[in-house]
Amino acid sequence: MATAHPAHPAHPEPPASLLHDFLLAAVTTTPDRPAVVEFAGNDDVRTTSYRQLGLLVTDFARTLEGLGLDIGDRVILESDTSAAAIAMFLACSTRGLAFVPVSPEAPDHRVRKIVETTEPALYLRASDQPRTGLPERIALGRFDAHGLTVERPAPPRTRLRREVTGTDTAYIIFTSGTTGRPKGVVMSHRAVVSFYRGMLSHGIVGPEDRVATTSPLQFDFSLLDIGLALGSGAAVVPVPRTLLRWPRRFLRVLRDTGATQVDGVPSIWRHTLRHLPEQLAELAGLRGVLFCGEDFPLPELRQLRQALPEARLVNCYGATESMACSFTDVPAPLADDPHRLSIGFAHPGAEMLLIDEDGRAITEPNVIGEIYLRSPALFTGYWDDPDATARALVPDPLVPRSGQRVLRTGDLAYRGARGELYFCGRTDSQVQIRGNRVELGEVERRLLEFPGVAAAAALTLERPDGERELGAYVALERGEVEVTEGELTAFCVEALPSYMVPQKLRVVGELPVTEHGKVDRRALAALSADNAGGSQVRL
Ligand code: ADP
Repeated sequence: MATAHPAHPAHPEPPASLLHDFLLAAVTTTPDRPAVVEFAGNDDVRTTSYRQLGLLVTDFARTLEGLGLDIGDRVILESDTSAAAIAMFLACSTRGLAFVPVSPEAPDHRVRKIVETTEPALYLRASDQPRTGLPERIALGRFDAHGLTVERPAPPRTRLRREVTGTDTAYIIFTSGTTGRPKGVVMSHRAVVSFYRGMLSHGIVGPEDRVATTSPLQFDFSLLDIGLALGSGAAVVPVPRTLLRWPRRFLRVLRDTGATQVDGVPSIWRHTLRHLPEQLAELAGLRGVLFCGEDFPLPELRQLRQALPEARLVNCYGATESMACSFTDVPAPLADDPHRLSIGFAHPGAEMLLIDEDGRAITEPNVIGEIYLRSPALFTGYWDDPDATARALVPDPLVPRSGQRVLRTGDLAYRGARGELYFCGRTDSQVQIRGNRVELGEVERRLLEFPGVAAAAALTLERPDGERELGAYVALERGEVEVTEGELTAFCVEALPSYMVPQKLRVVGELPVTEHGKVDRRALAALSADNAGGSQVRL
């Protein structure tokens, strides 16, 4: 039987494989629609259309081109999320420059470590507050919605590259690392675009939506939100960091900007649910909430569901090493007694395996194993850390001879009756504090750098209001002069982001140890429960 095949176009457009091509498609298809909606205070909302965003990207890219940088060069981007910051990272993408977002609030010490390890060719910042102590060889620039001002040019050099490819690095996100220096997750264009395609197949937002993003730009959750919005031809609404803590102001931003979807870690809802649930319920335009980074405490999730009964609530699970990997709708209504929320199955195009201690796949329900992720969205490696990379990107346990690598996540889970997964802990001492990933080892290492500190143990404490916070116990060397808790806290503040600074820090005579000589975290838990004013330790 003759079948009519559609004629192939002579020059088929390749599907977008680079970050900027993928996120800027709407510049051509719907140029007048809003791309970024910014809350500017005093009833003022600034809208940047796709056309304007595209022009800003072109303008930034032209200035970047004039700096003589090469594909693969790193560019530090110190900024909060804004139309200009989005345009800037997309401009970097057009030139094949790997952007490294850092927080304007990051301590100098941490920024210096990131600069030392990534050796960027250019340091860009949005604020007029300069970073001091950056090496002379690094070009400097400042940008806003009006353009990019080069403050110090790059030294002349020969370019080695011509063509940006999908395997080139799109960005590097620094997360907490056990070795005492931040860990750089290197993501290629191909990986991030492939993740975006998988995410968008869930149809979470449409072109009419306005996606409020609450995570700082230096976490990839913000890039997830931007991909969700721009990849759908919708608008991104950056929620100013300082307003997030105040429920009334938070709700005002959502109302004034017409947000229809809010993305963020579960704790962004805590104060609003406690103090202003009725006002939240009045936001009739709010159709969706996507949360990520840690378990949403079920009592609070029920309150959220009650306030927004019609909204689609999505539990997004995953790690920076593949941006995320699953999107699971929270059931409506939420049954009274599920003990955990499902993280479901990986997004289309990826698969989560559950592997036991002997490397065998677990298919039956209720058996705990470690999640391994098979996906084209996997990161390239950790920056300048082949050993850590080899521990995370491991041979496929099912077909080890194939050469395929999969991500060993360190996350523990078990299956439900349909094969869906339930997250239930970690294999190591990585924890989440307000959705931020923290290696307890990195906090301990910093404390050990303080002269006179002999031992340190960091742990998570749960406050009575459900907030998880960091605690630390420190023992001093014998005969040492006094070290105060205030001094130790200040020492942490100098080097660590605020969420990694222990909120409860105690100097003790010595750390309790088990009979095997290891720090006895259970004993510390008991100690903490006795004198931490109601906090409980999670082991
Ligand atoms: P992301 O930036 O994607 O939130 P991080 O790399 O900061 O991820 O942290 C990843 C870790 O956070 C995961 O390995 C897991 O332990 C935890 N996590 C992420 N999402 C969830 C979730 N929805 N439920 C439970 N834990 C989660």
